Amino acid sequence: MTDAATQSAALDVRLVVGLEIHVQLATATKMFCRCKLEFGAPPNTRVCPVCLGMPGSLPVMNRRAFELAVRTAMALDCTVARFTKWDRKSYYYPDLPKNYQISQYDLPLGSAGRLTIPSADGTKDIRVRRAHLEEDAGKLLHEGAGATSQVDLNRTGTPLLEIVTEPDLSSPQEVGDFGRELRRLVRHLGVSEANMQMGQMRLEPNINLVIRKDGAEYRTPIVECKNLNSFRHVEAAVEYEAKRQLAEWQKTGVTIETGSKSTRGWDPDRGVTFLQREKEEAHDYRYFPDPDLAPVVMDDAWLADIRATVCERPIARRARYVAELGLDAADADQIVEERANADLFEAAATALPGGKGARRLAKLLLSEGNKRANERGGLLADLPIAAGRWAEVVALLEGSKISATAAGTVIDELLTRDDAPEAIARAKGLIQTSDAADLAPLIEAVLADNPKAVADAAGPKGAKALGPLIGQVIKKSGGSANPKVVQELLKQKLGL
Ligand SMILES: [Zn+2]
Repeated sequence: MTDAATQSAALDVRLVVGLEIHVQLATATKMFCRCKLEFGAPPNTRVCPVCLGMPGSLPVMNRRAFELAVRTAMALDCTVARFTKWDRKSYYYPDLPKNYQISQYDLPLGSAGRLTIPSADGTKDIRVRRAHLEEDAGKLLHEGAGATSQVDLNRTGTPLLEIVTEPDLSSPQEVGDFGRELRRLVRHLGVSEANMQMGQMRLEPNINLVIRKDGAEYRTPIVECKNLNSFRHVEAAVEYEAKRQLAEWQKTGVTIETGSKSTRGWDPDRGVTFLQREKEEAHDYRYFPDPDLAPVVMDDAWLADIRATVCERPIARRARYVAELGLDAADADQIVEERANADLFEAAATALPGGKGARRLAKLLLSEGNKRANERGGLLADLPIAAGRWAEVVALLEGSKISATAAGTVIDELLTRDDAPEAIARAKGLIQTSDAADLAPLIEAVLADNPKAVADAAGPKGAKALGPLIGQVIKKSGGSANPKVVQELLKQKLGL
């Protein structure tokens, strides 16, 4: 909040943000009918009487969607309701054929949870007020000639999990971090692909300021920014709103008591928010229980089955890699970004002889592995190299049996055949000679042939002048001599 705060040094300005996030659940079919969920299908081809809101059609709950929602609520440490019902949220809009949306009003499936996010001083817990299921609306297309709009109802009835936080976020960065951590979590849980470009995760920050001036406290009216589908945009929108609201308050003095809630859109091209409408209140929607749908009652066995599918949270996994396996925080971040990659890393780390070399393993996967995965347009975990093979390559490096360059060659071979890395390295003449007895005659010969270099090493530069001699020994060995061992042997020989 430094930007807005520094605009007026006499003021103490605190940014307050709560988030509403819609996550599309990764089900095969819609929330209350059997229409397939398919991004990019021709308009209005994935529809039926239920999702078109035809009179007389009856919705049936998608059990899988409910289970994925409860899995997420559990991972967010929410209290999971044993009894939930469905409510109709009434409003009229051309993309909503029924004139109401099925949602959960006063009995959400999850409440009072939290998500731990990374922060400058470690971590911060953001409280989750509620998590509930609802169905998506269709899409208006403002394309084609003339001032007409078309509607595509393929998206109507798509299962959405809405997650609402308490207003615990206090900077644009934190808002973005929450979004990114939640995205990692739902992807780890396998409940959503959370593909931002496809609109599978949409963020709506509720933003206002608490301003202290001359011992009095003022709160600006809350602004909700709608449907942001990029973390960069949500951060920019929050940043902009903080400045705009402070300027507005300084100009008009309007506060949360004298003004009203409003909804604003974000224009990424101009980098500004713009007024859409004064916000509706809950009573405008005339919520009432949907008479077509039975309430959902969860028993112990069902809850236990779902709880068994909750995996370790990515933030805990990342912390464990740093604390127990000695990874750099940045490497752990990258490994955890994709669950499949983290699973591969862990399987390989478990296979390391004596558990040694996890740090080197991470670096190898992120450099040599990622490079090849990117070339193939896939994930690290998609490469045809088994976890055990990665561990074997790392063991060769840890034992100084191959050089880093040779490791790259071995990995290229592993992409074409599943052989033992040591056998590949041997066949390609990549095994380093670390045996003093094998290296001694080479060293003798090099010392005899290079009196000037020997004299340099005996001079004030000492061991720093060994470079040319080491190079000569490696050359004489045909590239197989282990540089570290050669250096040690030379030091011993020359008494350095
Ligand atoms: Zn349908």
